[in-house]
Amino acid sequence: MIIKICEFFSSIQGESSYAGLPCFFIRLTGCNLRCSYCDTTYAYDEGTDYSIAEIIEKTVQSGIRLVEITGGEPLMQDNSRLLIDKLIALDYEVLIETNGSISIKELNKKAVIIMDIKTPSSGVTEKMDMQNIDYLKPTDEVKFVISDKRDFDWTRDMIRDYKLEGRSKILLSPILEPEILVRWMLEIGAIGTPIKARLNLQIHKYIFKDGLRGR
Ligand code: SF4
Repeated sequence: MIIKICEFFSSIQGESSYAGLPCFFIRLTGCNLRCSYCDTTYAYDEGTDYSIAEIIEKTVQSGIRLVEITGGEPLMQDNSRLLIDKLIALDYEVLIETNGSISIKELNKKAVIIMDIKTPSSGVTEKMDMQNIDYLKPTDEVKFVISDKRDFDWTRDMIRDYKLEGRSKILLSPILEPEILVRWMLEIGAIGTPIKARLNLQIHKYIFKDGLRGR
């Protein structure tokens, strides 16, 4: 059982409600999307084949019990599902970061899914598998990357139309000045309350100033 891996590294989880916790990252090679703002283009092709046993060995060696399977798009490689099942059987806490274009229906229910819903500025919104929203659990998280007001308004409409509040956690990741996004988040919307979502600051970008690869 082989999986092509771009990189392994131990770091601080930079995003999601797990932000700030030590985490072992397993970045799989390959992505089926080409988002306008992609910061991991090196993961499209670079990588080395590892057996699942070798990947588990590296995870054990990290000494960290929180593991994130990421990419690229990790679900492009079918064997990623076997790796997830194996890690969960070994009692690891597993986060799966996925771009939302591939079905999450059959994934191990003990894994926490952190799923992108690609906003208009990504250029790939039409690639989303919106059926995935039906399979989200309350422990899962959906992430919207916000680069401008159009993205924010679109996101607010999506949250309302798909009744995302209460279905899973909601993350808003700014790629503009965070203060601008916070102002928009606090606006009283048509339903009379601010948007119920978490500002997702990607704290690793504040910690590691001299390059993010492997961090
Ligand atoms: S899904 Fe992620 S890795 Fe793939 S192109 Fe978009 S930002 Fe890059």
